[in-house]
Amino acid sequence: MSGAVYRDTRADVDTAAIRRNLSKIRRRFPASVRLMAVVKADGYGHGAIESAEAALEAGADMLGVALLEEAVELREHGIRLPILVLAPVPPQYAELAAALDIRLTVTEADWFRQREELRRPRDGSGEREASNRRDGCVGTIGTAGGGNAAGGALPLRVHVKFDTGLGRIGLRSREEWDRLVPWLKRDDIVAEGLFTHFATAGWADTSFVRLQYERFLSMTEWASASGIRSPLLHCCGSASALRFPEMTLDMIRIGAAAYGFYPSALAPQWELEPALTLRSALIQAKRVSAGDTIGYDRAYTARGEEWIGTVPIGYADGWSQIMQGGEVLVGGRRAKVVGRIGMDQLTVRLPGPCRAGDAVVLIGSQDGESISCAEAASRAGIVPQEITASLTRRVPRNYEKERPANEDSTKEGYAWRPVHHTFRG
Ligand SMILES: *Cc1c(COP(=O)(O)O)cnc(C)c1O
Repeated sequence: MSGAVYRDTRADVDTAAIRRNLSKIRRRFPASVRLMAVVKADGYGHGAIESAEAALEAGADMLGVALLEEAVELREHGIRLPILVLAPVPPQYAELAAALDIRLTVTEADWFRQREELRRPRDGSGEREASNRRDGCVGTIGTAGGGNAAGGALPLRVHVKFDTGLGRIGLRSREEWDRLVPWLKRDDIVAEGLFTHFATAGWADTSFVRLQYERFLSMTEWASASGIRSPLLHCCGSASALRFPEMTLDMIRIGAAAYGFYPSALAPQWELEPALTLRSALIQAKRVSAGDTIGYDRAYTARGEEWIGTVPIGYADGWSQIMQGGEVLVGGRRAKVVGRIGMDQLTVRLPGPCRAGDAVVLIGSQDGESISCAEAASRAGIVPQEITASLTRRVPRNYEKERPANEDSTKEGYAWRPVHHTFRG
């Protein structure tokens, strides 16, 4: 797909809202609590580079991603903040990570053993391949901090993940920890952090979060007992950081809240702003009669004279069939999605006569009415970030140009700029 955009379906991303959300969070914690902005999954669909830039302006200390690919992409775009990949990557890519000053998550001694075997020179061809790859990457970054300018290998910085109850990744026993320690003490390894992740941070019942927190604290004592010196301790994602400031330890990892998603019933004082508006426009509006059926499988039958609108968004845009039965805004009023959501289109029952070209808002506000991502998500039984993270590259992201601070609340000076990075590959 080329960079040109011809369709009305698009996502407007307000990067200033991301910056304000993160600044607000930054300001309300002591300066000693480091802020990691989590920009995985293309910044939860808002654009990884743009989100990382907003995070930098807000004073973030580190970025978090899920994949090494995502970290490399940030480096290729000149982002120099420390980056942590929050899940293990195959050990053969450890050298690439170290060369780019990317921190990795480790959970077991075997990972280090495998890395060691991969590094042991055999006929030399493996080595050559690895260094070609590294040179290529460093060349495209061109940052002073991320490269390997002195010729000496950068140490590999790692954060050890503990499983305190989420049950996905992380070490669970003292034996596993003890096997890891000799590796963590090597000169070319820096054990920079220890962390865990909560399973129920959004629940009203806080008992399991507290249990996980206590388990984590006792596991971190293994580190002090083993002579691993003052690593960064971190356990809170958005919901837990916002709800349990007493658990923030050395760093908080903020993803959802940066984009305005937070448990507003449990932490209403935060008042974070949504950053994404999903827009489209009708491509057809028509009057139908009682008994007319709409869409695949004739799933909807008009009960009388009705106005039906067709909106050019479907599951190939990330607007899944689980959104069936939801609502969109047309002319400042709610219109119910009727019939099956298709790959490219969905149909709505309009509040009255409309025309092709009439503006549609799927997430956001229109003439005083609004549908939040949280509302649309809860109707579908998912979390709000699943909606934005699911938007595919068929939906162009448009970024509002930064306005001078004194115009922050107006729509004056609003301008589009085409953004090409969402169309790569
Ligand atoms: C994604 C992720 C986060 C961010 O969580 P949010 O709830 O979106 O703030 C934090 N930590 C880990 C380990 C993650 O994978």
